[in-house]
Amino acid sequence: MLAMCVAYEDSLPSVTYSCGVTFIAVAIPVARTDAVSRALESAQTAKSHGADLVEWRVDTLAEDPHASAAIVRLVQESPLPCIVTVRDQSEGGAFSGSDDERIAAWRAASSAVPPPAYIDIELSTYHARAPMGDSAREIARISSIGKLDATRVILSFHDFRGRPPGLSSRVAEMWSDPGSAIAKVVWTARTVRDNIEAFELLASRAKPTIALCMGEHGLMSRVLAPKFGGFLTYARADAHGTAPGQPTVEELVRDWGFRLINKSTKVFGVVAYPVSHSRSPEIHNRWFRAANFNGRLFAIGVAPSWEPFKATLAELFGHAPLDFCGAAVSMPHKENAIRFVKESGGVIEESAQRIGAANTIGKSSDGRLFARNTDADGVVEALANAMRRAGGDGNLRGKRIAILGAGGAARAAAFGVASRGASVVITNRTASKAKRIAEEFAVASGEAPALDVNAKALSALSKERFDVIINCTSVGMDGGPAADQNPLPAEVVFDERVVVMDAVYSPAKTALLIHAEQRGAKCVGGWEMLVAQAAHQFEAWTGKRPPTDATPSR
Ligand code: NAP
Repeated sequence: MLAMCVAYEDSLPSVTYSCGVTFIAVAIPVARTDAVSRALESAQTAKSHGADLVEWRVDTLAEDPHASAAIVRLVQESPLPCIVTVRDQSEGGAFSGSDDERIAAWRAASSAVPPPAYIDIELSTYHARAPMGDSAREIARISSIGKLDATRVILSFHDFRGRPPGLSSRVAEMWSDPGSAIAKVVWTARTVRDNIEAFELLASRAKPTIALCMGEHGLMSRVLAPKFGGFLTYARADAHGTAPGQPTVEELVRDWGFRLINKSTKVFGVVAYPVSHSRSPEIHNRWFRAANFNGRLFAIGVAPSWEPFKATLAELFGHAPLDFCGAAVSMPHKENAIRFVKESGGVIEESAQRIGAANTIGKSSDGRLFARNTDADGVVEALANAMRRAGGDGNLRGKRIAILGAGGAARAAAFGVASRGASVVITNRTASKAKRIAEEFAVASGEAPALDVNAKALSALSKERFDVIINCTSVGMDGGPAADQNPLPAEVVFDERVVVMDAVYSPAKTALLIHAEQRGAKCVGGWEMLVAQAAHQFEAWTGKRPPTDATPSR
């Protein structure tokens, strides 16, 4: 349960922090004395991009006997209020020096005018070596004497391998320590579900807290920190961050709309495996922004089987404060999406029911989940647009359409065009799969009528004339089984009345499209289908058509 927002205030020289404002801290490693000017320039750039704080990571610099002047200069000339950190190797840093060297670095930092806003010390160092904790507190105390600006202590804990054992008790220990102002815990997320634990820690905080997850699964905790009142989130100034998974300051502010994230932000995800190639976050987040819709969509990688899919979605939809409102579901989970919604007592819409797969999960106003297949709409819309561009009216009724493939995309395409009155021939390398689809669709189901879908051999395409040919195999796809091949037999005859569509969207021009275009056919690539199906997802979640002028280019 979300705890009440803790009423506290903490101030920085140039910014006042109150509950609900989350700072962006840019972490800049400074390895040597001659790197100070460059580091100050990076901080200046980060400031111009929207950073509020800079963390000077002086891990190796602190081991240099001549480090003091460089550290003083870093703090004194820092364009932003700063944190000074000498991170030990045991917690992912580069410092392997002595306690005395670390204390000397802190002392140098605190002698600057103004002194650093914060110094960071690991919980393990703070406790295990008593003089270190004493020194950190003492430096914070001395730095405050006779000065307007006080240095505060951030007590931190990092685990680069995974979720640390005893996480809550460590955090409770940091919260109860009177000598520190901020508690910080950072660990490597094993799955997206770790983010929820970070959010729960933030929601129940007893003092300003930083709770972040590292790695490919941890982005949600970094971006959504303001939703849960995190004290700060870390960002990269440039290509080199200090922890895996940090976005750049620009990405955070411009692409993620970090400043506009608040308690009411709705959360969505694209769930797939692998997911890193997905363009859905870029497309939907741009549309959300352009439509002034307070939503953010994240890439969520879920291992390819039912159990992890079920566990992940149950946790995301089940955590009320997260306000997880919908998922775009891609390979290999489209069938799992139907099963999940069915088991949760939700509604399987007709398209998803007949196709046997859903690419969209949403929440109705009564809180029930629904499963929809917008791939079928995507095919129909992209095709109809291409037919209009070719001088037709975009009507599919009575059109003869050949579909190559019998996987998920082919099922969606066959259902989409046949339910608009087209006559479909489906052909596939594994003929039995095409036959099964034809047999399924040829039978009326409930109120849905029988569809005109027939399975034939690939050679049939050379003997008959089709108005439209749609490739729904993975042939031609970058990184796929036959990346530079054309799935059509060479004997297939085209003319300018034929429309050829390829569901493959990477590359933009597949071997099939190049071949068909050279023979006069009108062509449409998979990107148009991808955007069209995403537009239907957007509508399913927000009730509105997306502002398509904000669509990213392919
Ligand atoms: P799928 O379920 O895995 O089906 C793959 C299909 O390709 C099967 O019919 C398979 O035949 C066939 N195939 C694979 N390798 C082949 C080869 N070497 N020769 C002939 N046929 C081959 O995949 P899917 O989800 O349907 O996706 C298919 C393609 O559509 C992918 O490139 C995907 O990226 C694209 N897609 C695009 C969109 C979009 O919005 N643009 C949406 C969904 C999918 P067998 O049955 O014989 O194995």
